[in-house]
Order: sequence, then structure tokens, then C-alpha cells
Amino acid sequence: MPVLDACRIGLETLRDLFFPAHCSGCLCAVSGEDLCPECQADLKPITPPRCPVCSRPSRGTLGSFVCTNCGDRDFHFDYAVACWESRGVLREMIHRLKYGRELTLAPVLGRLLSEGLADERIRGRTFDGLVPVPLFSTREREREFNQSEILARQLQKRCNVPIVKVLRRIRSTTTQTHFDRHMRMQNLRDAFALRQNVSVQGQKLLLVDDVFTTGSTLDECARVLREGGAHSVCALTLARG
Ligand SMILES: [Zn+2]
Ligand SMILES: [Zn+2]
Repeated sequence: MPVLDACRIGLETLRDLFFPAHCSGCLCAVSGEDLCPECQADLKPITPPRCPVCSRPSRGTLGSFVCTNCGDRDFHFDYAVACWESRGVLREMIHRLKYGRELTLAPVLGRLLSEGLADERIRGRTFDGLVPVPLFSTREREREFNQSEILARQLQKRCNVPIVKVLRRIRSTTTQTHFDRHMRMQNLRDAFALRQNVSVQGQKLLLVDDVFTTGSTLDECARVLREGGAHSVCALTLARG
């Protein structure tokens, strides 16, 4: 056995002795899983019928329906795929990563995000790059990391598509939590740009973010990429708000 492997196993054994494996959701003891059965059962998968464009679950409607979020909009991405509803344990874990800087949650959130790669809307597609949604640089410094980039890194390990940091945020935007859709769109106008000396000409790109709420941020990013000559843009988020 190579020395490095032996060291790694030794360290993992020590870690398990002092810090037994625990559920990422509720911190109870588990063996071999990242979530306990209760937390795993708390996740709410988004399955059809749902909006084909923005993945919004349809409440009670069967068959095809016109989504009130995007029925009157023409998004610059082809599809925004999300596998899970933003609620309960998942919502808490996203908050803990984003605001509590709990980087140990990256693998479990990466696992849940990567389930979106099997979605029929993007499964057969090839992508030239994963594009994390950038933060404005002062905000990134405050938080020391960009959760979209952390998620994109997890995704990269599972799909072998390179991360291409082609976007930058050129304007700080106020927190959007309490804005309606129209206010969000105003707030985001001209917030993103292509980085200097990068080309996305002819590329097929997958935007990566934590949560899809109204789609305004992802739409604005997709608009910049398409105007820069990208062949196509899809989006994958961990959760749908
Ligand atoms: Zn749990
Ligand atoms: Zn929709």
C-alpha cells in the first residue's frame, strides 16, 4: 500500500474515532451515509409535471401547463434544471453553506446537485464549460468564498466538464430577497459582464447556482453569455425556490 494511502486511511480512522460520521442535515450519528433516513426523506424531489423551462413544480395540474413565472418571459437559457424544492433540511443546509461557511456540506450538496445531470432536458447534451454565477468582489471577500463556485467544483468532479470563470459581476446589487420579479430585473440590469480577454464564441455552457427563485440572475448571466456568442446556455441549480 502506498505510504500516502496508508496515511490517509490512518487519519480517517482517527477522525472517525474522535468525530463519528454524522448526518449533514441534523448531525445525528450515521454510518456510511451523508444524510440520515429522516433527512433524506425530508428532501422533496421535483418530478413531472413541472414547468419544462424553469422546473417550477405544478401544484395539482396534470399534463402540460403554462408556468406563471415564465409564461410571459423569454429566458436567455434553454432550460433551468433543479431536482429539489428549496425547503426543509435542504434549505437549511444551503443557508449553512452560504452564510455559515460550512464547507463540509459541499460534498452532500454536490451529490444532490449532480442528480440534475440525469434530467432528461440536459442528460444528452455535451457542455464545454460550467459557469458559476459570480459574486461582486467585495461580497466574495466578505464571505471568503462563492457558493456557486463551490457547487460547480463538486459538479466538475462528477461530469469532467471544466469550470470556466468567464463572467464577472461589475456592479454590486442590493440583496434581492424581498424584491418582486420586476424589481429584481431592474436591480440586475448590467450587473454582469464577460471577463476581459475571454471568448465564449460557439460554446455550450451550463450555468451553476445554488437556488433558482425567479430566474432573473440566471437570465441576466445567460443574456451576457449569449451576447458574447455562446451557442447555448442551460442552467443547473441545487434547488427551486
Ligand atoms: Zn439527519
Ligand atoms: Zn416556468
